[in-house]
Amino acid sequence: MHRLSNGVGTTTNSTEPWDAAPPKQPARGSHVQDEYACDVFNEREMQQRLPKNVFRSFMRTVQLGKSLPPEIADVIASAMKEWAVENGATHFTHWFQPLTGSTAEKHDSFMTPDNHGGVICEFTGGMLVQGESDASSFPSGGLRATFEARGYTAWDATSPVFLVRGPNHVTLCIPTAFVSWTGEALDKKTPLLRSMDALSQAAMRVLKLFGADEPVSRVFATVGAEQEYFLLDSDLFYQRPDLANCARTLIGAQPAKGQQLEDHYFGSIPPRVLAYMADCERELYRLGVPIKTRHNEVAPCQFEIAPYFENANIACDHQMLVMETLRRVAPRFGLRPILHEKPFAGINGSGKHLNWSLSTDTGVNLLDPREETHTNMQFLVFLCAVIAAVDKHAVLLRASVASAGNDHRLGANEAPPAIISIFLGDMLMDIVEQLEAGDPRKTMKGGNLDLGADSLPLIPRDTGDRNRTSPFAFTGNKFEFRALGSTAAISWPTTVLNTIVTEALHELADQLDRGFGTNPTKEKQEQVVRSVLSASIKAHKRVLFNGDGYDDAWQEEAARRGLPNLRNSVDALVELNSPESVEVFQTHKVLSKAELDSRATILMQKYCKQMLIEAETLRSVVRTRVLPSALRHQTESIEALAATEAVDLELPELRDEIERLVELNRACHAQLAALDKVLAHELTDPIQLAKYIRDNIRPVMSDVREVADELEGLVAADLWTLPTYQEMLIVR
Ligand code: ADP
Ligand code: MG
Repeated sequence: MHRLSNGVGTTTNSTEPWDAAPPKQPARGSHVQDEYACDVFNEREMQQRLPKNVFRSFMRTVQLGKSLPPEIADVIASAMKEWAVENGATHFTHWFQPLTGSTAEKHDSFMTPDNHGGVICEFTGGMLVQGESDASSFPSGGLRATFEARGYTAWDATSPVFLVRGPNHVTLCIPTAFVSWTGEALDKKTPLLRSMDALSQAAMRVLKLFGADEPVSRVFATVGAEQEYFLLDSDLFYQRPDLANCARTLIGAQPAKGQQLEDHYFGSIPPRVLAYMADCERELYRLGVPIKTRHNEVAPCQFEIAPYFENANIACDHQMLVMETLRRVAPRFGLRPILHEKPFAGINGSGKHLNWSLSTDTGVNLLDPREETHTNMQFLVFLCAVIAAVDKHAVLLRASVASAGNDHRLGANEAPPAIISIFLGDMLMDIVEQLEAGDPRKTMKGGNLDLGADSLPLIPRDTGDRNRTSPFAFTGNKFEFRALGSTAAISWPTTVLNTIVTEALHELADQLDRGFGTNPTKEKQEQVVRSVLSASIKAHKRVLFNGDGYDDAWQEEAARRGLPNLRNSVDALVELNSPESVEVFQTHKVLSKAELDSRATILMQKYCKQMLIEAETLRSVVRTRVLPSALRHQTESIEALAATEAVDLELPELRDEIERLVELNRACHAQLAALDKVLAHELTDPIQLAKYIRDNIRPVMSDVREVADELEGLVAADLWTLPTYQEMLIVR
């Protein structure tokens, strides 16, 4: 018996020194404003430390999305180092997002020998701007031959550097892009930045057509990502090899109380969890990550954290920091976060909602419909561009969220279906219908809601309800892409969205341009916009769906409309580098064909690796944990029966139970043999292997699980060596 007999509560005391809170935590009750971004070398800090002309030149560069003149890099590096060293930093690292899905860092000390037996701290512009590293151990999906191992990191000056602290170390982290020595993107940031440039150009074209009243020089995507996660007691977590290896349970009988009572969602947050959340938030505030929301989610032990939205590039870096911080802080509380999409069968899984909009550098949200929306032609052009993009590239969008983990959610009635459709709500749907007919005349109003009690205020009512079942919903002044898995690095789906909307904006701008001719009158402009948008809506309205996405009837209706329905990741990933996808990425210079192909290969390989780790782990857990427990229980039961009969008493029910046990043990052996057999394959091609896993290995895994879960329900608790759902799904 491996379980700790003294249970959950003791683990909070088992904090190791390296898990301790980092130093320099301000006193309790101090204001967020004082601490916010104190570990970030941000605009305010730079303004104080840099000569005026250098600061101005830097800001101009960043605002226009241009690259930095080399002569000012040295000055910035020196000020940055001074700031970092004053704050206790000894090392710096280029921080990047390789195609593994996580972040990568290699720390270098500031220290350089001074030739007199001592050391000096050194950090030059060159060290800030560019790093060289061995790229051969990062996935490249065939982009780079193994002998061409050189990779470069390049400073992304648009995302501020920050300090990561531990109890006895502080490291300066520099967000960077990561490319091969031939300049191909080996990371997620490079294409994201390229897509931001492309999107800005396309959106600026549309704004110019409408003669923007403000001096806008750049448009960028804004992003806010809601992150769901589970929290488990870390001792219980590490006692389960499946959780430790795969971050999900591969077996486990259902507890009597799961989420039936619907009492967890928005319930009061358990004190230990709240303390953990507060520490996470404080660390994130110090890093300038604007965390806004925390709450209990639907499943027991499931929670959510969400920030205020930001420029998409920064939001993507910050989302990586959110996931990292959730992991880093948890040991202080004896906890372990699980970001996996489906840690527990029979209980809701976790997703990530990517809220996405467009903003000018003057702060105008281009997807804000405002009052009298039907007259807001500029908004309607942006809206129609998103509708066209999502319809045309539904397959690509679906593929951008494909992963082994997400296969447990998408289409499983707890997350949107695998069919990509758009929910607009009543007000916009009404305007879109009027537009299609060619003459939008009115904007629906929501009116007020009278609550019937004099003491309660009249509240303005929205014109439409929310729709939780839609994968892509308009929510007031932004779109919410809800099909992402909880482990997703959001930079990839953001890149896809930016790119496909870029294409649609250019297409609409081309048509508007042609229709306007030179010096169009206001009336002519409006008439052209109406006819261009009417045609666009006619072409793409099949993607609009306001109904219940969980309803089976929608599957049929979607098929009738010709909408793609890629039910699993393998089918979706095969389409990732389809000719249409290659074209849209290539045209807008976001990814070359080779770069896109490499991503398709890497994602497929990742699917295979993840699934094979699960299959191997399942095999080992069942063989070395489940079967031995079940056999011991069988032996004890037989001994008990013999002892009963020895005193001339009968216990026929026990005999029946033993029969069932023997039957299940036999079935368990047989299923394991079947698993051995399907695992003995020699496939290496990622697509073939992925299909083989989906069609041959996964079904056997679920057969194995079925037997194991029934055994769990029969075997004496003291003989069962794995923590059960019942025990894990309560955070004390
Ligand atoms: P809900 O769970 O009701 O959908 P939340 O408040 O949990 O809403 O999260 C909404 C998210 O949308 C937040 O991260 C918020 O910052 C983000 N958001 C709001 N406005 C925009 C915008 N213009 N662009 C991008 N994201 C936005
Ligand atoms: Mg939310």
